[in-house]
Amino acid sequence: MTDPFAPDRRRPPITGHWHTATVAGLRRPIPRSVQLRLDVVDRMEHMPGQHYVVRLTAPDGYTAQRSYSVASSPGDPLVELFVERLDGGEVSTHLADVVEPGDVLEVRGPLGGWFVWDGATPALCVAGGTGVVPFIAMIRTARELGRLDLLRVAVSARTLAELPYADELAAAGALIVLTREAHGIRPAARLTAVDLLPLWEPGQTAYVCGSAGFADAAGQLLLGLGMRAEDIRVEQFGPSGG
Ligand SMILES: Cc1cc2nc3c(=O)[nH]c(=O)nc-3n(C[C@H](O)[C@H](O)[C@H](O)COP(=O)(O)OP(=O)(O)OC[C@H]3O[C@@H](n4cnc5c(N)ncnc54)[C@H](O)[C@@H]3O)c2cc1C
Repeated sequence: MTDPFAPDRRRPPITGHWHTATVAGLRRPIPRSVQLRLDVVDRMEHMPGQHYVVRLTAPDGYTAQRSYSVASSPGDPLVELFVERLDGGEVSTHLADVVEPGDVLEVRGPLGGWFVWDGATPALCVAGGTGVVPFIAMIRTARELGRLDLLRVAVSARTLAELPYADELAAAGALIVLTREAHGIRPAARLTAVDLLPLWEPGQTAYVCGSAGFADAAGQLLLGLGMRAEDIRVEQFGPSGG
């Protein structure tokens, strides 16, 4: 299949209110995904939890744009994104399969004023799959501030091999729940209220991130524990075109 966004690397730099981002680093730490490290011109400092919009433009002028959470901390000179490749996906397949180091992308951000962590208040982070990305920014920020004690993190994935940033999450003390294989003494199973109860502390704000189905289920678990709806912030990684 031809990729409509196949880059014409002779094009002039992009201008306008969108920012130019050069791909300074690219890794594929787990299958079906790509980690991009972007050098964004005139970068504004983000807060952990915020996202960027990436816009692709085909040579015929057709554009597509999608949101991607920032994994890097505000102190990192580069903006790190982690993109899961969805079969048939317009933007994620291009980013995962076609983009190379040195390529220039258009980005807008940082965006999002609700799903952000201030680095100073207790937070309970609950993620499914690629939903871990904004929590990596929170963990890295907390580590830099020496305040990892403020974060409680629970993540769910199908297998450990499919969990982005698995080593970093484990090092930060995250509870890792796998639905398709055992993890330590824990058999394969979905996240439950019993898993979240020991992580729950008064005064926390909960952050839930993942697919719409995961976000809904995790939100219900937190409400079932007695958490107030206004203390639960949800980011759904659903379709985000437009
Ligand atoms: C605030 C926000 C932050 C996000 N952060 C990330 C991130 O850090 N990493 C990341 O990989 N994605 C993230 N997403 C999702 C991302 O924006 C795109 O939706 C995703 O990359 C698919 O885009 P696509 O163009 O490849 O697929 P599309 O061409 O839009 O869709 C292809 C097919 O996949 C379905 N689909 C679209 N998006 C999803 C999805 N997320 N899950 C399951 N099915 C889907 C569509 O319904 C369609 O059937 C985020 C979304 C939002 C709203």
